[in-house]
This record gives sequence, C-alpha cells and structure tokens, in this order.
Amino acid sequence: MSEHINVIGGGLAGCEAAWQIARRGIKVRLFDMKPRTFSPAHSNTDLCELVCSNSLKGAGLDNACGLLKEEMRRMDSLVISCADRTRVPAGGALAVDRDAFAALVTESLRGAPNIEIISQTVEALPSGVTVIATGPLTYGGMNDVITALTGGEGLHFYDAAAPVIAADSINTEKTYLAARYDKGTPDYINCPMDREEYDDFWEALVSAQRTPIHENIDVPNVFEGCMPVEIMAARGRDTLRFGPLKPKGLRDPRTGLTPWAVLQLRRDNTAGTLYNMVGFQTNLKFGEQKRVFSMIPGLENADFVRYGVMHRNTYIDSPRLLNPDYSLRSRPEVFFAGQITGVEGYVESAASGLLAGINAAARLTGREPLVLPPTTCAGALTAYISDPEVRNFQPMNANFGIIQHEILKIRNKKERYERISANALEALANCTKNI
Ligand SMILES: Cc1cc2nc3c(=O)[nH]c(=O)nc-3n(C[C@H](O)[C@H](O)[C@H](O)COP(=O)(O)OP(=O)(O)OC[C@H]3O[C@@H](n4cnc5c(N)ncnc54)[C@H](O)[C@@H]3O)c2cc1C
Repeated sequence: MSEHINVIGGGLAGCEAAWQIARRGIKVRLFDMKPRTFSPAHSNTDLCELVCSNSLKGAGLDNACGLLKEEMRRMDSLVISCADRTRVPAGGALAVDRDAFAALVTESLRGAPNIEIISQTVEALPSGVTVIATGPLTYGGMNDVITALTGGEGLHFYDAAAPVIAADSINTEKTYLAARYDKGTPDYINCPMDREEYDDFWEALVSAQRTPIHENIDVPNVFEGCMPVEIMAARGRDTLRFGPLKPKGLRDPRTGLTPWAVLQLRRDNTAGTLYNMVGFQTNLKFGEQKRVFSMIPGLENADFVRYGVMHRNTYIDSPRLLNPDYSLRSRPEVFFAGQITGVEGYVESAASGLLAGINAAARLTGREPLVLPPTTCAGALTAYISDPEVRNFQPMNANFGIIQHEILKIRNKKERYERISANALEALANCTKNI
C-alpha cells in the first residue's frame, strides 16, 4: 500500500497509535521534535518518555487502571508490553525503569516494518489521514494548527511533577520498608513522622516560596489528581495526613506503632538507585524543595536528582469536537489521541492512542471504526470524552465510576470491582474478534 498515515508526537499516545497502524500493514510517518527540541518536562532522547512518576498505577483487576492495562494487553499494546518487560518492584502497582521503558518502545518502533521515525517539529498539518498526539505541552506552531482545527482556544489546567531522590542519600536508620496493609512485597521506603515533626514540616511547607508560573495567576487551575503538595497542605493542617502522608496500614515494624504521618518513596529505576516521592508533585522553588523536604526524617541529606516542576497542560473540548472513534467531527481524516483529548494519565493516553491508531487505519482502508462499549474501561473513557452531554469538561482518569455495569449486590468492594472487570474483558473479547 503506497498511502501512509501521519502521527504527530511520539509520546505515550503517538507511539501506541503508530504501532497499531503499522501492524495493520499500513505505512506510518511518526514525527517527534525530540531529540532536537524538548518541552520543559521532557529530557530523554528516546520516544515514549514518562515525564514524572514511573508508575503506571495499579496492576490488579480490582483497580480500573489495572483493567485498562489488561484490555490493552489483549489488543496487543506496545506500551503495556514494554512496561511489563521493564517492570520494577512496586507492590500492587505496575512501575517501570523509565529509561529502559522508553528505550524498549523506541527500539521496537525502529525495528518494526512500516514505521518511519522523523525528528522534526511539526508546524503545519500534513495532508492525508493524521493522528495528532502532541500532548499536554504541544509545542510551537502546532498550537495554532490545533486552535484553527478546533475553532478556538484549547482548555488548560496546571499539572505538577514530583522530585526524584538518590537512594544512597536516604538515611535508612530513620526509614523502614513496607507496603500499605502489607499488600504485595514491601517495596516502598517509608519515612515516618511523629506529631511534632509533622507540624514543623507542615508549617514550613505552607509558608515556602512557590515558583511563579504566570504573571496573572496566583492560584492556578489545578487538576485534583495532580495537585501540588503545598496547595493541598494549605487546605488544612491535617489534609496531607488523609492524602499522600496517610499513615494508615503502614505500621513501623521497629516500634509496632503507626506513625502520625508517613512519606512513601517508590523505586524509580531497576537498579534501585533512584526513588520518587509519592504524591509530592510540587511547584516550590528548587531551593525551597531542598530546604523543606529535607525536614522529613530520613531525607536530612537527600540528594535531589530531579526537582518537582509545574506546567501548563492543554486539552481540547473533546465532547464538542470528537467522534467516538477519536476523529474530528469537522475533519474526519484528522484524529486526536492522548492527554490532549482530555483523558488523564499515562495509561489512559496510551489507550486513546491505541484506539485512534486502529481507527485511523480503518479510515484509510474503509473499514468500520472500532468503538468499544462503555462496559469496558477503554470504551467508557472514550464515551466520556466524546459525550456531547458532558458540560464543564475536565480531564478523566480510568475509574469504575464511568464504566457501565449492572447493579451488583456484592458488598466486598474488591470482589465487586473484579466482577466488573471480568464483565469488561468478556465484552472486549466479543467486539475485538476481527480487529
Ligand atoms: C509535568 C507533567 C507531569 C505528569 N505526570 C504524570 C504522572 O506522574 N502520571 C501520569 O499518569 N500522568 C502524568 N502526566 C499526564 C500524562 O499522562 C502525560 O503528559 C503523558 O505523557 C501524556 O501522553 P501523550 O502521548 O498525550 O503526550 P506526551 O507523552 O507528552 O507526548 C507528546 C510528544 O509530542 C512531541 N511534540 C510536541 N509538540 C510537537 C510538535 N509541534 N512537533 C513534533 N513533536 C511534538 C513531544 O516531544 C512528545 O514526545 C503528567 C503531565 C505533565 C505535563
């Protein structure tokens, strides 16, 4: 076949879309501005970079993101296959060695027939069937292209990344290994705080200096799921103890007691030389991050190999603009995929890329689009972002609330979720026989 499909952006969504198109025998031109140009959050020269946490969230079928990953596995997802192969221990979550993961995805795409990777900043819309997957930090002229295609301003909110710490700088005499409620293996390093330590830390955190992110914005429009820790802390003295510093289920094996508050550190690479501060997305000035976070027991001499950052995060008004196959209603040869469609998260972005890729291929070959039922997680996310009835559109994570299911009289939440997942996987099998 001489015709090809363009994919703009080689992140989570674009890589998955390119893979799905190519494995249907269609040529793909995959454009990414890296390694010539980097967004403020990207730094790896490989494609499919995880810009913040190295966790792809829960692995089990009692977790909606775990279900989404399983659905993707069953549709031959490149992203999930590479994540499975570069996994690092993280209790019940699927976390990866971020560099090994990005390298494996890039190598797989380079080695695949039908895929040409082009290092170029795209400033104009190419002709033909095209998937736009330039992400929440879309660069340069593509912003104007998207504004013109969508007939107005993109929506936006602010998103933040957490710091990463060198493992050998953590004081192991003050920390302990444990998984919450002893679930899975004890892969997290836990930094316990007593009441006085917590109070001192909280005072310092809420009064620390923040980085100005926009001349006229003091309290930005932050997405709840990625709220900077200092903004969350400012809601009340105990808010963090019910959020990222929740001590419940994290008894200190040395004392047998549950601390007043606990910071968890999650392994960030296979070698175990780097750890991520769980739930500590932040917009504090770098010097303030060092000063305030070093107050946490165990982190007195912490070496911060990457500080937390905050960025504008752009997404389009998908309920008004997109068909359920991820194509634009006004330009059916143009598809959108990834975070820019208003799905929120690495896995969700890759899932939308998977479906947009399958459907772009279907458009080129004249096949029926694949629109999964809302009883599946991938289908429920698609239904949410393309539902014209949705008002005040906000980005959406995978969650059981959006998955359509019959009323189940199962009291145990884990069992209820596993039943919904089993139904979803059955529904998926029924509609993906011929894809
Ligand atoms: C700072 C930050 C932290 C985040 N942290 C998390 C997290 O911890 N966990 C989580 O699940 N989600 C997180 N997200 C949300 C989301 O999951 C990620 O942004 C995810 O990478 C989105 O995937 P994507 O494919 O849509 O975009 P990206 O992965 O960003 O890929 C877009 C690609 O397009 C390229 N590009 C951009 N413009 C152009 C252009 N004009 N021409 C050519 N190439 C271009 C970029 O170089 C990039 O490679 C975070 C987002 C941000 C901004």
